[in-house]
Amino acid sequence: MAVITLHRGDITADAEADAIVNAANESLLGGGGVDGAIHRAAGPELLEECRRLGGCDTGDAKVTGAGRLPVDYVIHAVGPVWHGGDRGERELLASCYRRAIELAAERGCARVAFPAISTGVYGYPLAEAAATAIAATRAALEEHPEVDEARFWLFSDDALQAFERALAA
Ligand code: ADP
Repeated sequence: MAVITLHRGDITADAEADAIVNAANESLLGGGGVDGAIHRAAGPELLEECRRLGGCDTGDAKVTGAGRLPVDYVIHAVGPVWHGGDRGERELLASCYRRAIELAAERGCARVAFPAISTGVYGYPLAEAAATAIAATRAALEEHPEVDEARFWLFSDDALQAFERALAA
């Protein structure tokens, strides 16, 4: 049985995961927030690899190596910008988690670390994002038994509480 675990802090410190998921943008050329933290920790090699990918659609994800990070892969997922909820945001966000777990399974990653995709600069409300993240992750873990742990890294007490509630629901 796969598990979902919640952690408070900086995802780049996770040395127990096999892959770290990045909340990237469509260019895949780096940004602020968790994307900036991952690129800083991984070093310039990561950006070099990302340049060769030619971007990524919203709702999809692409894999690279992890540079200096203590994991094997970075999975760059592009979450939706929140526009109020009627532009397919939920399905696009769910798709990020699905695709990330699919790619992790293909690469033989048993443990995958996730940030709360879209809940920073992209403005997705925390409670809704947490509910969608947990539901989509649960469903994807059932489809891909090779992945046995999804490790969510929450960067604030509010985010941690939202994910605790979603997990308990
Ligand atoms: P997005 O553009 O998808 O909203 P952000 O990076 O702005 O991406 O924010 C996504 C989430 O990641 C936010 O909840 C933010 O607080 C959180 N975050 C920022 N830095 C880190 C980090 N180093 N580790 C884990 N989460 C982080």
